[in-house]
Amino acid sequence: MTDENVKQSGEFELIRWIQQQAGDDDRMLCAIGDDCSIDQLPTGKQLLTSNDLLIEDIHFNRAWTSLFDLGRKSVAVNLSDIAAMGGKPRALYLGIGRPKHLGEHDLKDFVRGFLYEAKRHDVILAGGDTCGSPGPLIISVTVQGQVSAGRAVLRQGAGCGDAIYVSGTLGDSALALQLLRAEQTPPAPLVQRFNTPAARLGVGQYLGENDLATAMLDVSDGLLADLDHLLRASGVGAEVMISTLPLSEAFRSALAQDPALIDLALAGGEDYELLFTSARHDLDKSPVPAPGVVKIGTIRAGSGVVVRQDNGDTYRCRRRGFDHFAIN
Ligand code: ADP
Ligand code: MG
Repeated sequence: MTDENVKQSGEFELIRWIQQQAGDDDRMLCAIGDDCSIDQLPTGKQLLTSNDLLIEDIHFNRAWTSLFDLGRKSVAVNLSDIAAMGGKPRALYLGIGRPKHLGEHDLKDFVRGFLYEAKRHDVILAGGDTCGSPGPLIISVTVQGQVSAGRAVLRQGAGCGDAIYVSGTLGDSALALQLLRAEQTPPAPLVQRFNTPAARLGVGQYLGENDLATAMLDVSDGLLADLDHLLRASGVGAEVMISTLPLSEAFRSALAQDPALIDLALAGGEDYELLFTSARHDLDKSPVPAPGVVKIGTIRAGSGVVVRQDNGDTYRCRRRGFDHFAIN
């Protein structure tokens, strides 16, 4: 941080306030306050690290998302990456590029939301950086997690004949965004999925610990785009049955009015559900080994995804994966 920034906006006081709000945690030998945090991983664990950048008017719009929810969401999307490896999140690092127009009250609301979501999942805010931004609000979050040695589930590893599963429901967040853009009020459950997505940590850890998934990632860009990442990494192709896609009640009632909305479930983005493959074809049967997952297709030899309708015809999705607000 430069002296100029400090003079401008009293960032030191803000950091002290963040430090107080974050509190102490015995798991970290040293967290906020020194040049680096010091962590000591338990024996036999491996460290997972990931970073996500959220830039105002590209990844979020303050007219649609409160700063408290934005704080929650910036944690959730990072935890989702740890879930996608089958890991347990441990620590977060928060970089804030603060525009002049963002008042202290708003900024604290953001940090409150961030810590609310972090504490809900027992994750430590262990450091960060705070600086003025001449442009938009910029949030950079790094998450670290742990996984038992050799248990991380990668994008590669899907084999021919494996079943393809997805957790939760698809398309809710993208439908909310589409309605908000059209200046309509989306049903509350859709807005909730858009503003405060839930990282599927329990499902991810269960799959990893029990060695049930051959490959896995989280759906952030849309089912088809993310499935394509998994297929390329694994060197295989896939067939997906469109009638099996898990859809919420709110999504289904909108779909009944406009069947073309199915493309939002296929390629909408920001679902933050887990997409994984397994040699087992009964993970969605009771007694439920992996609660809340639905089988949507099968891995085949070759490359690319074929989406099939019930009559066997191929379905062509007219939408590409999530491409962020600025480019649409
Ligand atoms: P430095 O000059 O070493 O970057 P800072 O004054 O930026 O130090 O930060 C002091 C301490 O506060 C560090 O431990 C840093 O990790 C932490 N910190 C700074 N900004 C944030 C933030 N937005 N969230 C959490 N911790 C922060
Ligand atoms: Mg700094």
